[in-house]
Amino acid sequence: MTQFNDLNLDPKVLKAIAEAGYETPTPIQAGAIPPALEGRDVLGIAQTGTGKTASFTLPMITLLGRGRARARMPRSLVLCPTRELAAQVAENFDTYAKHTKLTKALLIGGVSFKEQDALIDKGVDVLIATPGRLLDHFERGKLLLTGVQIMVVDEADRMLDMGFIPDIERIFGLTPFTRQTLFFSATMAPEIERITNTFLSNPEKIEVARAATTGENIKQGVVMFRASRKDREAGEKRDLLRRLIDAEGDTCTNAIIFCNRKMDVDVVAKSLKKHGYDAEPIHGDLDQSQRTRTLDGFRAGDVKILVASDVAARGLDVPAVSHVFNFDVPSHAEDYVHRIGRTGRAGRKGTAIMICNPRDEKNLEDVERLVQNPIPRLDDPKGANAAPAEAPAAEAANEEERPRRTRTRSRSRTRDEAKPAVKAEAQETTAPKAEAAPKAEAKPAPATETKPEPKAEPKPDPTTRGGFGDAAPGVAWRKRSGPWWPRPAQKRHPRRGHRRHG
Ligand code: AMP
Repeated sequence: MTQFNDLNLDPKVLKAIAEAGYETPTPIQAGAIPPALEGRDVLGIAQTGTGKTASFTLPMITLLGRGRARARMPRSLVLCPTRELAAQVAENFDTYAKHTKLTKALLIGGVSFKEQDALIDKGVDVLIATPGRLLDHFERGKLLLTGVQIMVVDEADRMLDMGFIPDIERIFGLTPFTRQTLFFSATMAPEIERITNTFLSNPEKIEVARAATTGENIKQGVVMFRASRKDREAGEKRDLLRRLIDAEGDTCTNAIIFCNRKMDVDVVAKSLKKHGYDAEPIHGDLDQSQRTRTLDGFRAGDVKILVASDVAARGLDVPAVSHVFNFDVPSHAEDYVHRIGRTGRAGRKGTAIMICNPRDEKNLEDVERLVQNPIPRLDDPKGANAAPAEAPAAEAANEEERPRRTRTRSRSRTRDEAKPAVKAEAQETTAPKAEAAPKAEAKPAPATETKPEPKAEPKPDPTTRGGFGDAAPGVAWRKRSGPWWPRPAQKRHPRRGHRRHG
């Protein structure tokens, strides 16, 4: 196996890597670093979480170590689709270049031009930027790109989604023809292929996973959801989301929840907060300082759930995200790969659970076609007895007495019959039966599968997952096990007369 020491990296870089705790290069690093150090163009097809940032940052630092910064003429340029990704690359640069004298500037929106101009005037070795902001600086005459020796385009497929390709082409045209280009994309759409054919010269192509594949260390599942009534869909979907979070128990240490619409990001975050979860929204309409604060909080572990839109979450590097929840099936199948790539990073295990309502089934088919695998169907953790937790207050007050509807029973049976493997897994992980549930908890009756009642103390509730239920039995309803479980909700909702689940 290749070792970092075999890669001809600057000893100062090797020292920083060792301090970062990296033992061996990831496949994209082992593949991209040698040709990059030889000055060749590189086309890296790699999704987030594969270590691709270091695969271009480490050779860049090594190569730049030999020269000197000149005023207004950065020697290298890294283009990222979002501010967050750019900020993250900058952080990576600081980590890996800490024993060198190399300097950098970060050109992103939401930061004053003045500060950024001052840095560029002094001269920087590495400029990390979003395309729009870079062009703004260029047009103000504050920046010359004719000194760029190495240009990196990161997450090119996202640049394409965001409409940045014309900007990228323009920036390519502003840099010297002799520059070295390191180009990264998780997928190779035809437009990306065209760009690479135009601007890269005989690149070394490194593909660490098949384009649009999803990490094998990520357990995936999808819950098919149908609201009991159209006007209750939004509330019931949020209720299901909370059940899904709860059912993961202690295994869910932190999570990113993706919504397709910014409006839903706000509503879901607000609703989770209202139910006692430690959740914050992040999307493009929030101001930069708030986004940074939220992200820092999430990285530090102070915020446990990030509710995000695709664009805002782009480039988030939070190495230990245990779970990704897709509140909606993404409308662009490729976003699914990016979303779930937030978990299971750097070889860790991750879990990705999605909710699919009938409207999204077509999108689900697209996702499954793209990843070339069916996504295992999971049961609603509440099984056959879901009642809308966000029902109108008057109804909710009587929820305990009212018999619960069997909203998902027939569907989950059909599904289980169709998916014996999934069902087998479910039986292994199914929690004890509900008959022993204390009355006061008014928990749902068991759903389709049950296990023999344990002799021990009655558990408050079963979690009847049709998929992976690593959660300890009963933990889903207790919410005491982790530091971030909501406080008992009766304190917040006394009129409902029982503890709400999430
Ligand atoms: P990336 O794909 O660049 O976003 O990197 C994903 C995560 O992997 C980051 O948290 C890096 O710090 C980490 N990482 C990168 N390279 C290595 C390595 N060789 N060994 C262990 N972790 C790494």
